[in-house]
Amino acid sequence: MTKPVAIDLRSDTVTRPDEKMSAAMAAAEVGDDVLDHDPTMRALEERVAGLLGTDAALWVPSGTMGNLIALSLHLQRGDRFLAPRGAHVLDHELGTAAWLAGGMPQALEWNAGPGRPTADLVRSLRGRSTRYDALHTTLLCLENTHNSAGGSVVPPHEHAQLAAAARDGGLRVHLDGARIWNAAVALEVPPAALTVGVDTVQACLSKGLGAPVGSVVAGTAEFVTEARRMRKMLGGGVRQGGVLAAAGLVALDRIDSLATDHENARLLADGLAERGWDVTTPQTNIVLAAVPDTGRTLERLRRAGVLAVPMNGQVRFVTHRDVGRDDIEDALRRLGKPS
Ligand SMILES: *Cc1c(COP(=O)(O)O)cnc(C)c1O
Repeated sequence: MTKPVAIDLRSDTVTRPDEKMSAAMAAAEVGDDVLDHDPTMRALEERVAGLLGTDAALWVPSGTMGNLIALSLHLQRGDRFLAPRGAHVLDHELGTAAWLAGGMPQALEWNAGPGRPTADLVRSLRGRSTRYDALHTTLLCLENTHNSAGGSVVPPHEHAQLAAAARDGGLRVHLDGARIWNAAVALEVPPAALTVGVDTVQACLSKGLGAPVGSVVAGTAEFVTEARRMRKMLGGGVRQGGVLAAAGLVALDRIDSLATDHENARLLADGLAERGWDVTTPQTNIVLAAVPDTGRTLERLRRAGVLAVPMNGQVRFVTHRDVGRDDIEDALRRLGKPS
């Protein structure tokens, strides 16, 4: 008997380019993006800026680099930045926000709901102390959807209140919108409705949208000019980037189909709950399950042919375009009862 192929729910980053995307990459019109500009890169950047409601955008190889570029340009040594507890910039970027961008992090409690601080909390922490030995709080870094809170969404009015609370206190605002597309689809609003009041935003093309590589960091034209220099400093300039940007353009045609991933996440969560698992109700494409021993559960799942990852003491399952409804039903049969 052949071993069943594992159903890979570790992340939406495991998606592979399909034929249409590969064909677009092969046919891409290219230039040298480091020397002057690659035409397909430029087309992608303009389209993303339009979608995000910013003046301009810059392609970057990863979301991590996009966040680092933005934080480096916003922060100076002796500054503090605020971010919701569990944010990617706090826990999953090796502390670069501190040791490269130079900001001291302060985590915000989720006092408005999973992954969501209140505007009042931001108000209570903002501002410059006159004491010479105190940090200056200069940046609010939001995350929508919030990954480690289980892909939770911040609705537009709440987002706007958070951004306004920061701006009124003289803070800048960066949005880590790695999965802003999922948030927009779940909330049934255009992505630009979730960037109101921000200075900069980072968005990934390589997660649910399925590009093999690439993110964008967006803001004003002046920001993007500086971001381009910073990208070069970090070794992130690419030459015939059009090959990658072409994948990004195809990826952007697929925003609406994220709704299917969200349906599949609900199917998975409901099925797990029926089988006695302690799961969160997903708002987007991430399902968190509380188990007594994540290591043991993940190993059992691996043997059963379902791949997941640990996340804050829970098991994280992520649905994506390379797993269909049938795969989710199959995964549920393989998963069985919790243990
Ligand atoms: C994945 C992710 C990133 C980083 O993207 P990479 O392309 O993996 O570097 C940043 N923020 C959040 C919330 C993410 O989920």
